[in-house]
Amino acid sequence: MKPVLYIVIPCYNEEDVLPITSGMFLKKIHQLTEAGKISDKSRVLFVNDGSKDKTWEIICDLAKQDEHFIGIAQSRNRGHQAAVLAGLMEAKDRCDITISIDCDGQDDINAMDRMVDEYLDGSEVVYGVRSKRDTDTFFKRFTAEGFYKLLAAMGVDVVFNHADYRLISARVLKEFANYKEVNLYLRGMVPLVGFKSTSVYYERHERLAGESHYPLKKMLALAFDGITSLSVKPIRMVFFAGLFIMLLSFIGIIWAVIAAFLGQSVAGWASLACIVCFMGGVQCLFLGVIGEYIGKIYLEVKARPRYIISHRTWDETADDRYNGDDDHDDDDDEDDD
Ligand code: UDP
Ligand code: MG
Repeated sequence: MKPVLYIVIPCYNEEDVLPITSGMFLKKIHQLTEAGKISDKSRVLFVNDGSKDKTWEIICDLAKQDEHFIGIAQSRNRGHQAAVLAGLMEAKDRCDITISIDCDGQDDINAMDRMVDEYLDGSEVVYGVRSKRDTDTFFKRFTAEGFYKLLAAMGVDVVFNHADYRLISARVLKEFANYKEVNLYLRGMVPLVGFKSTSVYYERHERLAGESHYPLKKMLALAFDGITSLSVKPIRMVFFAGLFIMLLSFIGIIWAVIAAFLGQSVAGWASLACIVCFMGGVQCLFLGVIGEYIGKIYLEVKARPRYIISHRTWDETADDRYNGDDDHDDDDDEDDD
């Protein structure tokens, strides 16, 4: 039997680009169906991430026009990672394979053919990897590549130059649903699940319309989340840095005692004041790193839902596209504060 493919697409304020790219995704579904690689039950699943513009209206219109388009809406904006997760979890019980991709046309959708081929050849996860980043600004390229290296140095298993364009089989997603963490960094979490995986290379283009939602501030936040959700190495580094500074000061103390005995006691207190200030700074920094982890633990312990779906473009009770199985991975109670 041919696999059912769901293309999962997070959308946040994408009214400019959606009318352009939606047709491209539909065409891809048709092409793959005609090539006999996927079932005609395949769908393009849009996830509206609390957009403030007409994105949801556009998705609803598309769903009315063609049954291959379906959509879900999050109750509010929760960020790219949560939107992708919501789509994947929604899709996992209804299809055999998912491909997640941004809706702005930056990632080459023709790589999907090769992804599906790899799946048919036995891979359960296929990572889309950017072969060139020519269209990105130098700054974006530099920071992004530096970030992958930093992650690797922290012991996080990530695929170099892979973002969130990937094929994941429903089988892997069912296992992935057991990863209940609320600090999401999908590209670091998927490799943890295992299964046979491979990469497919593609060229990244310019955004077709609209603007990027990842300014430097958000990129840094994602980078920080990526490291702290997947590695405890920074805490260990803080420990060793502390040890090193302690050793240095110990040598200093011995020197001061010897100097005092020799009658050459240090005259100025300025140097002392500098050291005290420096140590104060070091301690604050280290507490900050540890605090970051405590903050993460705080969020994890609360186990709030990672996404809440408020609307679907189909009637869940009546439609045959819906299999009657609403077993989401989120079983948490919600608290209000
Ligand atoms: N996105 C989202 N929620 C957000 C921000 C972005 O769902 O809060 C979506 C957005 O619509 C796009 C994808 O995530 O499909 C990637 O965003 P963008 O293209 O702005 O990032 P960039 O490619 O510039 O890193
Ligand atoms: Mg983009």
